Amino acid sequence: MAWDFSTEPEFEEKLEWIRRFRAERVEPLDLLYPDRAYHPLDDELGPVVRTLKQQVRDEGLWAPHLGPELGGRGFGQVKLALINEILGQSSWAPVIFGTAAPDTGNAEIIARYGTDEQKERYLQPLLEGECFSCFSMTEPQAGADPTMFTTRAERDGDDWVITGRKFFSSNARTSKFVIVMAVTNPDASPYKGMSMFLVPSDTPGVRIERHLGIMGEATDEGMHALIAYDGVRVPGDALLGGEGQAFAIAQTRLGGGRVHHAMRVVGQSQKALDMMAERALSRETQGERLADKQLVRADLADSYAQLAQFRLFVLYTAWQIDRYQDYKRVRKDIAAIKFLTPKVLHDIVYRSMHLHGALGVSNEMPFSDMWNGAAVMAVVDGPTEVHKITVARDVLRGYEAAPGLWPTQHLPTRREWARKQLEDLL
Ligand SMILES: Cc1cc2nc3c(=O)[nH]c(=O)nc-3n(C[C@H](O)[C@H](O)[C@H](O)COP(=O)(O)OP(=O)(O)OC[C@H]3O[C@@H](n4cnc5c(N)ncnc54)[C@H](O)[C@@H]3O)c2cc1C
Repeated sequence: MAWDFSTEPEFEEKLEWIRRFRAERVEPLDLLYPDRAYHPLDDELGPVVRTLKQQVRDEGLWAPHLGPELGGRGFGQVKLALINEILGQSSWAPVIFGTAAPDTGNAEIIARYGTDEQKERYLQPLLEGECFSCFSMTEPQAGADPTMFTTRAERDGDDWVITGRKFFSSNARTSKFVIVMAVTNPDASPYKGMSMFLVPSDTPGVRIERHLGIMGEATDEGMHALIAYDGVRVPGDALLGGEGQAFAIAQTRLGGGRVHHAMRVVGQSQKALDMMAERALSRETQGERLADKQLVRADLADSYAQLAQFRLFVLYTAWQIDRYQDYKRVRKDIAAIKFLTPKVLHDIVYRSMHLHGALGVSNEMPFSDMWNGAAVMAVVDGPTEVHKITVARDVLRGYEAAPGLWPTQHLPTRREWARKQLEDLL
């Protein structure tokens, strides 16, 4: 038997270091520079951020999602889950620890599908944390259904020429390069007719039409670009992986990314629950603490149970990925935690924010970002409905229709069967 919910003492020490480092050294960045985590470093922040990253490297904790061949520790997904739930409580921590999206996913696909030259040119600076990258897949007219993408890449001699528009390309404004998904063979099925390209952001024809922000961000201040590719010419070796492989590459990338979001949301939900418990014990009304009100206790209990279930499901999914090394095999559970992620965050953040009354909805508490995060999580990397469809389809695969008119658990039919089973004895 190998059911074990404990953490090895040596690894627990590492987790303790991460907890302390995040709380003492990284959270100050969240408070002093809340909007700068994904911006290029200037003279003021550069030395601070490089020092903190170096301290993480010295501890052997840089890019813990990567295998040793790429400079990580090859911890695997379960340990990564335990790390990410700590890092998820800070917006700067993923940058300081080299685990920030979309760079982690981009690094993973270049490592897996890139040529040696591509790795040297694009992967190395990413792994060193010296540049940002962008993944440009969604289009203005199509997101959840990638078979509707129309951005084209056409051969012209040895080159490819890319034409089309992409939407919500995160970090385009700061990225050194963009990974673009484009149709290379319109006659093939979309699953075989699209390819990925590595395109330096300053290539002529890459034109950012505008930067979209998410809720509350000022116009054109956001990090998600509407990009036009106006006949962008790239050499033949800009192709990432083989021609027609874009779908397979995207699935590799998004599978891991979805699990990492869920891991971080475990931490954010825990933070909301911590705030809720503290407030319940601190605030009094009608002669008693909020914590003494039954309705408040019910909300606390619901939040605790919801988070515990979610956390175990995330860890179990991570354990399956470690065990089978096959995202496809774990697809059902990845899809299930993907749609639970916004729901759990939404429910716990709402209860906690509400318990703080006016203060909770004010800009003096950190709830608004968490609240926005729940809405974003329900859309990013595919909307909730699409993941529910995946889960339902996979669940149904394990069943068959009832053989006759009545369900197999129909009691009169079962009793008739039971009598026959025991007729020699009855
Ligand atoms: C913060 C953020 C960052 C992002 N970063 C990137 C990025 O870096 N690169 C990138 O390429 N994309 C990025 N995206 C885009 C994201 O992947 C898409 O938004 C997502 O795939 C959904 O596509 P859509 O927005 O076009 O919604 P649509 O596909 O138009 O779906 C809209 C809604 O329709 C409903 N719906 C859709 N399909 C179904 C269905 N099958 N059944 C029932 N209902 C359905 C759902 O309610 C869904 O929310 C980002 C999005 C966000 C919010």
